[in-house]
Amino acid sequence: MIVAERKPMEAVASLVAPYERILVVGCGECVTVCMAGGEKEVEVMASALRLMRGKEGRPVTVETETVQRQCEPEYLVPLDKKAEAAEVILSMGCGVGVQFLAERFAQRWVVPALDTKFAGGVREAGVWEERCGLCGDCVLHLTGGICPVIRCSKSLLNGPCGGSHGGNCEIKRETRCAWQLIYDRLKGLGRLELLTPVLPPKDWSTARDGGPRQVVREDARL
Ligand code: SF4
Ligand code: SF4
Repeated sequence: MIVAERKPMEAVASLVAPYERILVVGCGECVTVCMAGGEKEVEVMASALRLMRGKEGRPVTVETETVQRQCEPEYLVPLDKKAEAAEVILSMGCGVGVQFLAERFAQRWVVPALDTKFAGGVREAGVWEERCGLCGDCVLHLTGGICPVIRCSKSLLNGPCGGSHGGNCEIKRETRCAWQLIYDRLKGLGRLELLTPVLPPKDWSTARDGGPRQVVREDARL
């Protein structure tokens, strides 16, 4: 999932400070799971904004709505009326959601309440960890299901570097060395032969540089 974190409340408040009619929009997917922008967080945000404005003695109307997914246009249709009435839309979705809102509501100022962090998952209660750098050319079949692009601090494809110490990374001492993890897992599975070939340089043309990427599924098109 996409993991995001709410910006500091003062920063969010300053983004909507010039406006009196605010629509706060949550998203029912990833940001609900990581407790940053779901229905509950939207209501907390709306209350906080009303409270802050009340203390300042400035009027404000804060409407709320949480859609199933901000990143799919059809789910934004029910927002039309409230968006029309608002001066600013405060998105509590990830950066993708913010952009889809801005596209649909071209005449409205749209601002992000969250900082979008990474693609990852739940490591333990209250802790989310990055797992994929969305490189577009997955090599997990060569590395025992452990991503060297994201989990190695240097994104080495042929690790470990000389700095792995006691199974931990030299860049972040508290982090396990990804290549130690890869070695241990491949050894446990009897697949150490996968480490013999030197992997060629990665094809980064599938990664993020060079403009937005697309996935097109002809069988899913209307
Ligand atoms: S190799 Fe690329 S696609 Fe696969 S997990 Fe790592 S960053 Fe993600
Ligand atoms: S110590 Fe391990 S994880 Fe850290 S940079 Fe070197 S190979 Fe990568």
